[in-house]
Amino acid sequence: MPLDERQREYLRLMGIQVWVPRLHIPFGAVENPNHFTPMPDDLHESVDTVDVPVPGTASTCPLNWEDLEARVAGCTACPLHQGRTQTVFGVGTREAEWMVIGEAPGEQEDLQGEPFVGRAGQLLNEMIRAVGLKREAVYIANVIKCRPPKNRDPAPEEAAACEGYLKGQLALVKPKIILAVGRIAAQNLLKTATPIGKLRGQVHYYEHIPLVVTYHPAYLLRSQLEKRRAWEDLKLAMRTFRQQNS
Ligand code: SF4
Repeated sequence: MPLDERQREYLRLMGIQVWVPRLHIPFGAVENPNHFTPMPDDLHESVDTVDVPVPGTASTCPLNWEDLEARVAGCTACPLHQGRTQTVFGVGTREAEWMVIGEAPGEQEDLQGEPFVGRAGQLLNEMIRAVGLKREAVYIANVIKCRPPKNRDPAPEEAAACEGYLKGQLALVKPKIILAVGRIAAQNLLKTATPIGKLRGQVHYYEHIPLVVTYHPAYLLRSQLEKRRAWEDLKLAMRTFRQQNS
């Protein structure tokens, strides 16, 4: 299906000129970006509780959404809890087919308690709209739930301490595809030190869920040229999603 005018407008807002070749992707939810169609119940069974690792132990604990969110809100499992204003759990529909996973809260996210706000958040919204969805139709979370001081990279042990919460969110959402935005998210999810430039352009899997890597919108704001590559990533994600669900 060719890009419609609305998608072209979103691409323009992303900073991508409408030189982009037309796609032929009958991507279900793309047809009308204002209408998100959840998966039928028989294809997307809801999960009430998931086993979430208890930080610092080898055990797990069955949690539902509310318990998991409360567990995160009170977590002191790594030193990052000392500098946070609040934890940043996640936002969006809990039955989403697409899950966007970023790095860690920045200053504004820490203050507002929501991932991807501010200019980077607006660009992420445009990226999501470019694939035919609205921000509310996906689930957005970070690998790390507390803001690292001065926005430094999270330490491996901090990422390890927080990993169970994201695993819990993934198990509850059961997305059909993951979009990993930014180096930290991609490397932590894929357990690799490979540079993001080499992780892009191919389909990875996170516990059997297809995962596509793209640049973090904060980086794209500083690097206009890479927006074209980001659009290639989004097209790969759309193709992958379609193939998974055809
Ligand atoms: Fe707990 Fe994660 Fe915050 Fe560390 S970053 S204190 S593991 S919620």
